[in-house]
Formats: sequence, structure tokens, C-alpha cells
Amino acid sequence: ATIVVAVDGPSGSGKSSVSRDVARTLGLRYLDTGAMYRAMTWWMLHNGIDVHDTDAVAAAADKPELVSGTDPDGPTIHADGVDVAGPIRGPEVTGAVSAVSAVPEVRARLVALQRAVIGDGGIVVEGRDIGTAVAPDAPVKLYLTASEAARAARRNAEGTDPARDLAATQADLARRDALDSGRATSPLSMAEGAALVDTTAMNREQVVAHVLGLVRD
Ligand code: C5P
Repeated sequence: ATIVVAVDGPSGSGKSSVSRDVARTLGLRYLDTGAMYRAMTWWMLHNGIDVHDTDAVAAAADKPELVSGTDPDGPTIHADGVDVAGPIRGPEVTGAVSAVSAVPEVRARLVALQRAVIGDGGIVVEGRDIGTAVAPDAPVKLYLTASEAARAARRNAEGTDPARDLAATQADLARRDALDSGRATSPLSMAEGAALVDTTAMNREQVVAHVLGLVRD
């Protein structure tokens, strides 16, 4: 079990569904690193930490116990033993996660946890900095993207976004992308050697078939 498939890209690019399908098809584990940043953010909010107070967030970054389950058929995430899979998709966490993710101590902690889960491989890992920072030696690196309108439409169809109004969803995605791309530590960017996959005009099955082709090459 050595293969590591690194899947990066902005919100709504289809990373999660495609990564899970690819992991399932190939019998690999699946790690959603965005869920870890969301769980860290949930813990900060739950413990009354001001997410815009960088020093407070940095000081607390080592405190939560975070455990990720890697079955692609039912990935799980626990913070201090609490199942937070539901609340991490809520509007409070979505609104605060980019601020928490920009804090270097948070990234250092989560990258270490992610590398421990990756171990000697056999896993599809999705996020924003997998190919650039977490697993730069991954043999397969993908960068999924799609037009802003297509990404917003997908997010709304998932029904997980706070704003069901399409324009509001699109504005929220644009806000999060700008923060994720503009931060100093491991900003969202395409890794060297990554294959760019523009999913705007593709359905889920087409993207999965294309990605499986790239992995098998
Ligand atoms: O993938 P998802 O939209 O759930 O990620 C939530 C947030 O977590 C992103 O907007 C980003 O701020 C952060 N993130 C990150 N690095 C990763 C994965 C997610 O900074 N590898």
C-alpha cells in the first residue's frame, strides 16, 4: 500500500465526491482534510475562542483531540470524542474556517496528523495543500477546478451551504477562495506536476473515469 493520490482544488470543484468514488473503486482509504480544518474550527467556536484572535487560536491549536475515519463509504470525524460530522457543515463553521485555517500553528498541527494518517499510503487525500505541502512526493497529484457558477450550483444542489440563494452561495465561495488563495502559509495553488482537471462541463461519472485513467497511467 504505497499509492497516495493528492486531490486539491477550490470548494465545489467536485473533489469530495470524486475522491471518494476513486478510493472506493481502487480499494483505497480516503481522507478529507477539509473536515479536519472544519472540526478544528468547530472546537474553537464550541470552546468560546475568538476565531479572529490569531494568538488565541494558535495557543489552542494543540488542544482538540481529532480523529478521522478513512472508509470512503462512511468517513467520520470526531473532536474530543464528539461526532461532529453534522455541525462542521453548518454556517457558523463554514463562515469561520478560512480564518482558523490561515493560522500557521493550526496548519502545522493538522499537517502532522494528516501525515500520520497517510502513513505508508494506500489513500486518496483531498484538500487545498496536499500536493504542495502535505504529500509533495505523492505519485499522483490532481488539481480539480470548475467555473465559479458551476461550483456554486453544485454546492447548492448538495444542500449543505448556509445560503441557498445561488448568488449568495457564489459570493461565499468567492470569499472563501480568496482567503484560501491569499493566506501566507500553504495557500491554495496547483502543485508542481499536478494534472489540471476542469470539471465545469463534466458530470461526476466522467470526472471519475478521467481521474481513474490518470491514476492507472
Ligand atoms: O474542503 P472544505 O471546503 O471542506 O474545506 C474547508 C476549509 O478548510 C477551506 O475553505 C480551507 O480554508 C480549509 N482547508 C485548508 N487546507 C486543506 C483543506 C481545507 O486550508 N488541506
